[in-house]
Amino acid sequence: MPRNCLPALALLLGAAAVAAEPARWAVEPHSRLADPGPAQAPQVALTLDACGGAFDAELLALLVKRRIPATVFVTKKWLDRNPAGVAALLAHPELFDLQNHGTAHVPAVLGAGRRVYGIAGQPDLAHLETEVLGAAKAITALTGQAPVYFRGATAVYDETALKAIPALGHQVAGFSVNADAGATLPKAAIVARLRAVQPGDVVIAHLNKPAGSTAEAFAEALPALQARGLRFVTLTQAGGLAPVNSPVKAPSAAGSRGRS
Ligand SMILES: [Zn+2]
Repeated sequence: MPRNCLPALALLLGAAAVAAEPARWAVEPHSRLADPGPAQAPQVALTLDACGGAFDAELLALLVKRRIPATVFVTKKWLDRNPAGVAALLAHPELFDLQNHGTAHVPAVLGAGRRVYGIAGQPDLAHLETEVLGAAKAITALTGQAPVYFRGATAVYDETALKAIPALGHQVAGFSVNADAGATLPKAAIVARLRAVQPGDVVIAHLNKPAGSTAEAFAEALPALQARGLRFVTLTQAGGLAPVNSPVKAPSAAGSRGRS
């Protein structure tokens, strides 16, 4: 929503609710690979979110054709709705590492009325636990491997969530290059962001929006990255993430347009 709607929204939500809660923050953690690799073989990680929606078969086929590994953050919702996508991922366990994007794609900010990009957060900690553990159970059933990385819907978290998620057996997976902004960017913009990738970067893009320009942009940019000698690895292969910064964002609704 436009920023100038926020004061009105805050009034509508009720001053009592605001006054009853302490000031709350939420952040979008950024991460790079802990090890960018040797100079002669630098490594980067491509991470693809499968939020809800559909399956970008063209994007996955490109990665298979070019033998590019990727970490795919899947929701249980996406798994349930996209059996062809699931089959395509499971057909290439040497390339695709499935990690946890939540059960129902609800942002990891807790409390009544909290929203990120217009998407309502969790009412309480019990719901966050269900969000994390429901998807973990589904991924483990599919792959035989329990996920160890979690990326919440919208990749924004509050303080409670950042403490709770590690206790649920997951490390929060940030990123350093937002390649497609929820598959909303035009092709040229995605290509430009991909061409700026440096050793150690963790790229985020989306596997659930085939109508976007992500696959077309990746088809143009990935060969150039490979020609530069960059080596793609999954987060599991990479040997861990290192935080780079945590820009503090507004504690509640920041707008309705953005990644899904
Ligand atoms: Zn998502």
